[in-house]
Amino acid sequence: CVKRGGRGGVLIFSACHEAEMNDFGRIDQTLRSSDLARELSVVFQPQYDLMRQKIVGFEALARWSSETLGNVNPARFIAAAERSGLIEQMTGILLQKALAAAVTWPEDVKLSFNLSAVDLVSPRSIANIVGLVQESGLAPERLILEITETSMMTDFERARGSLGILDAMGCQIALDDFGSGYSSFAYIHRFPLHRIKMDRCFVTGLKEDEAVGRNIIRAIADLAANLGVACLAEGVETEAELRAVQAAGIRYVQGYYYGRPMTADDVTDRLAAQGDTPPQEEAAS
Ligand code: C2E
Ligand code: MG
Ligand code: MG
Ligand code: MG
Repeated sequence: CVKRGGRGGVLIFSACHEAEMNDFGRIDQTLRSSDLARELSVVFQPQYDLMRQKIVGFEALARWSSETLGNVNPARFIAAAERSGLIEQMTGILLQKALAAAVTWPEDVKLSFNLSAVDLVSPRSIANIVGLVQESGLAPERLILEITETSMMTDFERARGSLGILDAMGCQIALDDFGSGYSSFAYIHRFPLHRIKMDRCFVTGLKEDEAVGRNIIRAIADLAANLGVACLAEGVETEAELRAVQAAGIRYVQGYYYGRPMTADDVTDRLAAQGDTPPQEEAAS
């Protein structure tokens, strides 16, 4: 890099930028030459309802086990796929796998699935998603699509149009990582929304008697209530965090406290352990 002999700040920036580019290039190149339908998989993390005191859904999370790179962090390979244009294909592969698992679950257990900013502005990707849901046989009401505020801002009108199609189909929309990016209260009521997922940063380290942290999560919970949408707290790891979240009146929680992301087989076992068996099995017994 030409600026390498320059001032410290420039040097550091250049080195980091270069490393990032190489990393991106390597991931991007490998993604293109891989059999993604085989190497990509989804794991599922429980979403717990504190009112009904049971698991009521799972969030599908992407995993890539690359033949050449090994396990790659999802945030990294998804960012690479977004930049290279592979994300639409990836969304299709992942959604199909997630739906295939979800159709075997009891009917009151929902599937949450993350959409990328690129999907939101792509009519082709939205049409593909609609088609995959229809083919899967999963009732659209059981599918919650997670989007972020930042992804809404790429092209708000187009993203709103996409959400309109998914909402009309019966799917639910969740606003992911709420409060961690550009939260704009001017926009939040201008697109279909059913659930707010409070970012993990508000929950981590929270203690029941900690006034400021408690007031912040209470404010987000109240905002959700005023908008008439459900509120879920992400990243609950400890009993203390759970108690604080519960005290703020939040109904849904997700985090290591209730379970790490698990395979589809483990989901079936976990549901059976709480007395939920798939409808087919119930009919057979
Ligand atoms: P996200 O949608 O906010 O997902 C939650 C992330 O937090 C997951 O990381 C999950 O494993 C992690 N997590 C859950 N509970 C806890 C906890 O108690 N403590 C801690 N420390 N972490 C917890 P993961 O699987 O690495 O995914 C990272 C991000 O990558 C996701 O954030 C999402 O933005 C993106 N992502 C994952 N799968 C997909 C996908 O299929 N499509 C798209 N477009 N993005 C995806
Ligand atoms: Mg998510
Ligand atoms: Mg999240
Ligand atoms: Mg997050």
